[in-house]
Amino acid sequence: MRRPVLEKQRPGTSAVLLYHRIGLPKLSSLVAGQYVAPVLFRLQLDYLTARSWGATSLAHVVERSRFGKRPPRDEFAVTFDDAYLSVYQHACPALADRGMTATIFVVADRIGGINEWDSAAGDRRELLMTAGQIREMSEAGFEIGSHTLTHAHLTDLSEESLRRELVDSRHRLEDLIGKDVPAFSYPYGEYDDRVLAAVILAGYKYAVSTKLGVAGRTGVYEIPRVNVRWNAIGPFLMRKIRRARRATGLPR
Ligand SMILES: [Zn+2]
Repeated sequence: MRRPVLEKQRPGTSAVLLYHRIGLPKLSSLVAGQYVAPVLFRLQLDYLTARSWGATSLAHVVERSRFGKRPPRDEFAVTFDDAYLSVYQHACPALADRGMTATIFVVADRIGGINEWDSAAGDRRELLMTAGQIREMSEAGFEIGSHTLTHAHLTDLSEESLRRELVDSRHRLEDLIGKDVPAFSYPYGEYDDRVLAAVILAGYKYAVSTKLGVAGRTGVYEIPRVNVRWNAIGPFLMRKIRRARRATGLPR
């Protein structure tokens, strides 16, 4: 008979990492800090792994959160907002090489296009993933989530437009990948009680915000994340995760 193992370890932390663009920071961009160089991205994965952080999926983090449990050891899930082509080119292969996956939040009306929501505001044009690339990543085990139809400011929308952004984007993505799409990400991190209720009504099972924090202390429609930027090298990434833990009210 096996003896029960004494559980001496403290419970772990679930950190959901948020990335946008993969590439060298482009100073011409209004959001230059959102570019993470491919080599840095790989180093971040390896840095966390070397410190015994386990890679997991957003769905897994959500399942645990529903029961208010903390993981037995530290774990991280990777998410990408906007579905940039650079993520497909550089980040997905790095994850796949390490047996890891991620959740990619797609702007359903802009598939194969560009980031019109940013370029309209004066930022650089960046290519987005095509339908074929999104399907390929879904088949490779990556989760595809919705980031609305047009990257709208949801709190400003009429009831009908809000419903369309939420419901139509989910249906379009489900048609594309032939699977359920339970995950949603609020554009600009903007939501209020009305938007949150509409997300639930639209059939999503969980949603991520851009508030700094670690998972497990909020409802599953307000999962906070750790926004990883161009300079989050090793100890700086860990420092940010510690800040997220404090922001969530967890010790250490
Ligand atoms: Zn976005």
